[in-house]
Amino acid sequence: MFLTEVNLGSWSGVTTRKMAEKGGCLDFYNYVYMPFSACVHSMWHHVAKYNLKQCQNVLHRFHSIPDVPTLPVDLNYFYLAAKYLQKTFARFDEETGVSVYVPSAFDLVCEGIDALSVEGE
Ligand SMILES: [Zn+2]
Repeated sequence: MFLTEVNLGSWSGVTTRKMAEKGGCLDFYNYVYMPFSACVHSMWHHVAKYNLKQCQNVLHRFHSIPDVPTLPVDLNYFYLAAKYLQKTFARFDEETGVSVYVPSAFDLVCEGIDALSVEGE
């Protein structure tokens, strides 16, 4: 038992997977939520892949040591975050009947990314 189980429960009393099933978005849960959840919650399989590197001392039997690599900004993740937030807003509006007449934050993000792409050419 070298790992500590942490269970803070759920605000709804229902698992996220069950909520996805009820909401008819189990495919989104499987292919989008799970990979992002691993990163956000620092799950072991994510940490092992992205935050460990092999020790270079041959006398240490190639154990892993912590690493926080400096990674370049990836606009794709920024785009995906904006896209999923847009999906959330759209679903909220659909379920509640709320109508909002303001520019879409997602559209603004896309315009900004396009502008950066043009500058970089
Ligand atoms: Zn070592």
